[in-house]
Amino acid sequence: MRKEPCPRCGQSGLQDALLKNLENLRVVLCQECEALRVGESTEDFYSYVQFEEFMESKHAEADWKQVEFLD
Ligand SMILES: [Zn+2]
Repeated sequence: MRKEPCPRCGQSGLQDALLKNLENLRVVLCQECEALRVGESTEDFYSYVQFEEFMESKHAEADWKQVEFLD
């Protein structure tokens, strides 16, 4: 779990994760509100999208079983 609060919901749900159905793409994902950020690109609020929207934009299934959470 990451130390900084989620910029979208303000809770401490941010966690590093790999998206297994997108060739293990590294993302930061909030388990509270499903905000998702790709890599370490920026801390900016507006760089976050919803998990489902993101997967749709990649033509991949928004399946939590395909998310591998890291420590
Ligand atoms: Zn959140």
